[in-house]
Amino acid sequence: MATPTITLKPSGQKVAQVGFGLWKVPNDSTADVVYGAIKNGYRHFDGACDYGNEKEAGEGINRAIKDGLVKREEVFVTTKLWATFHSPEHVKQIAKKQLADWGLEYFDLYLIHFPLPLQYVDPAERYPPGWSIAADKWETKTAAIPLASTWKAMESLVDEGLVKNIGVCNFQGGLLMDLIRSARIQPSMLQIEHHPYLVQPQLMDLCKDLGIAITAYSSFGPLSYRDLQSPKAMGTSLLFENDVITSMAKKLSRTPAQVLLRWAVQRGLIVIPKSNDATRQKQNLDLFSFELSSHEMDNINSMDKGLRFNDPGDYLNPPQRIFA
Ligand code: NAD
Repeated sequence: MATPTITLKPSGQKVAQVGFGLWKVPNDSTADVVYGAIKNGYRHFDGACDYGNEKEAGEGINRAIKDGLVKREEVFVTTKLWATFHSPEHVKQIAKKQLADWGLEYFDLYLIHFPLPLQYVDPAERYPPGWSIAADKWETKTAAIPLASTWKAMESLVDEGLVKNIGVCNFQGGLLMDLIRSARIQPSMLQIEHHPYLVQPQLMDLCKDLGIAITAYSSFGPLSYRDLQSPKAMGTSLLFENDVITSMAKKLSRTPAQVLLRWAVQRGLIVIPKSNDATRQKQNLDLFSFELSSHEMDNINSMDKGLRFNDPGDYLNPPQRIFA
């Protein structure tokens, strides 16, 4: 069964409602994982400079194209502008490097990764640059680059055909409203952390009003951040073990992962779960042969704790409180 799509504004391009997230996919297996995911039905990939595996992800896509599994226009490729490249003169330079790394002529979607410009790091010296000003120093240095100037450079990428859609990640309502006031090309997408502990109904309503599609990341909540030993995630019970979720999964004869992803797609969101395992990959795509009742949707909505695991206000030095 083909995955349902969401139509993006203003381009009118369609994107599969279930994609594949590339964060923490190890470099030595990324090409094979991407190739396998295409074989298993994925047509939408979510990468980033910061994930450090763009070359390998592109290798997997290009091998699948070469082998006749898909055509380029059937795969939707998203990647992101890292925080050290927000200065207008760096946006095109780095987008072109990323295109060369993927071995692609265009990206379907290019997102500002965080509303947090950092001081430039020369890619020839350190790539991907990460959050720190120096490799041996856990210290972040911000840069005074207004969002509107970065967005203008993002718009130029669309004008030049290097990217088809542009958008943002980790933005709150006020910033989005400011962005659209000066935008010539409206943002197509907002990508945000989203799970039953962080439900964000007001942000959903705002994006609906503005015609901006939403991609949910870290749909399984704390799980992904336990890999990083995040104290907040270590101290939060797993959604896969939560009674509300497990009892629904049992009743529907589905897995807890499917219940969590179904809740998100039923809210109209796009999801991008990551799994290196073929069985789980197939399971995560199989979300459209069942549905949750409105009572079940409400029960999950009411698990909200306003709990965010990916917050640079918690893990950077000095803290960068973008969600304050
Ligand atoms: P995720 O919610 O996809 O969880 C990944 C974890 O869930 C892994 O441990 C995986 O093994 C496990 N898993 C996946 N499917 C499963 C299943 N069916 N059953 C049991 N376990 C399963 O976490 P994520 O990687 O944080 O988020 C997904 C994607 O979102 C990322 O890969 C990345 O592309 C994107 N992302 C974006 C940002 C951003 O700032 N824009 C931040 C984080 C993640």
